[in-house]
Amino acid sequence: MGRHAEMLERHQRVLPSWLALYYDEPMSLVDGEGRHVVDAEGNRYLDLFAGILTTMVGYNVPEVVDAIRDQAGRMVHTSTLYLNEHQIALAEKIADMSGIPDAKVFFVASGTEANEAALLMATSTRRSNQILALRNSYHGRTFAAMSITGNRAWSASSLNPLNVSWIASGSRLRSPLAHLDDEAYLAAAATDLREVLATTTAGDVACLIAEPIQGVGGFTIPPDGYLKALKDVCDEHGILFISDEVQTGWGRTGDHLWGHQAHGVAPDLMTFAKGLGNGLAIAGVVGRAEIVDSLPANSISTFGGNHLSARGALATLEVLERDDLQGNAAKQGQRLLSELMAVGDDLDHVIDVRGRGLMIGVEFGDPGTLAPRPDLANAALGIAREQGVLIGKGGLYGNVLRIAPPLSITDEETDEAARALSETLRRTEQSAG
Ligand code: PLP
Repeated sequence: MGRHAEMLERHQRVLPSWLALYYDEPMSLVDGEGRHVVDAEGNRYLDLFAGILTTMVGYNVPEVVDAIRDQAGRMVHTSTLYLNEHQIALAEKIADMSGIPDAKVFFVASGTEANEAALLMATSTRRSNQILALRNSYHGRTFAAMSITGNRAWSASSLNPLNVSWIASGSRLRSPLAHLDDEAYLAAAATDLREVLATTTAGDVACLIAEPIQGVGGFTIPPDGYLKALKDVCDEHGILFISDEVQTGWGRTGDHLWGHQAHGVAPDLMTFAKGLGNGLAIAGVVGRAEIVDSLPANSISTFGGNHLSARGALATLEVLERDDLQGNAAKQGQRLLSELMAVGDDLDHVIDVRGRGLMIGVEFGDPGTLAPRPDLANAALGIAREQGVLIGKGGLYGNVLRIAPPLSITDEETDEAARALSETLRRTEQSAG
């Protein structure tokens, strides 16, 4: 029995059945360098999914590793009961990067917790538990985060501490508004939101929460200005806006540091996670001071922004800025996207290739009807592995490939990715029947 098969048997005995593993024959990754990883059986891959968009600057980056090593040898954790220089410096940095005037930051250990905290702040400020969320969204795995997640595959419970009204996802392919041009789309979205507010709420809604590009939802990209069109209506009612930047933050979208900037809108609160720690468990909320400060009781996150994770995050942000990885995301993303669009044009079952920066989605469906083909996405994942690249999957129907490498991917690696993925798409088409 191979190493992976043996681990799989043990995994299945002691870990939950719903903790999905990729591939018919799941694997364990044990080493990494730059953008490449090695599995437990010695195979090497170019990693185009980065631990779900999390290994942001790459594996084994000396500046980050040195900072973590140094900090681990001094002090890992003291809790938030004590002043923490690294946490303060990181909060100053993120408050500044957020563009939100006089911002404050609260650190937690995961994106889910960040959204929970943001919802608490918004509902507390507005004294209302009514929330607007987008269909096809993903915001996390706890009760409140799941209750604003508009995706059946990730909604394991109907228990809901919030009162949620749903608005259109912003998809340009599968929305009832998809046939409209951008201008008409935005106008229709605003009209629909007004109707949702008038028909499904008591008026005093706390907030709208949205991902600028829906990540788990299959890298669904709304027309630019979509969030602004919604926010303008929200402003008429004093409804706050939370931008969930867990996937779109830190320059991944190339054009902007934050995904919401493509929409010309300013959030009241913003949540972040994934890439910040380059794999360390750190996340948080940044927002207007009076909203962050609004909680009427104590709150704490024991691990949030501890010495080790805050120090690692500071080192990660230094590399991000020093190497202009946002600029790199724009450049490499554009190259890869145009190659994949050209290949996709000739393949019947590739019904959409879309992307912004290093968030690229390839959607499979039947030509004409657009009926989703999750079987093809699944096949493509395995074929890509044979081609030496790791990619992800998503979409409401599990029929979208997600390509999101570390932001530090090089020219040569982008060429390698384009070659391997083009071959993957062609072979997947051949298997479509
Ligand atoms: N928000 C978005 C947009 C996400 O993509 C995710 C995770 O994929 C989360 C929140 C939840 O983050 P975490 O898994 O760190 O709890």
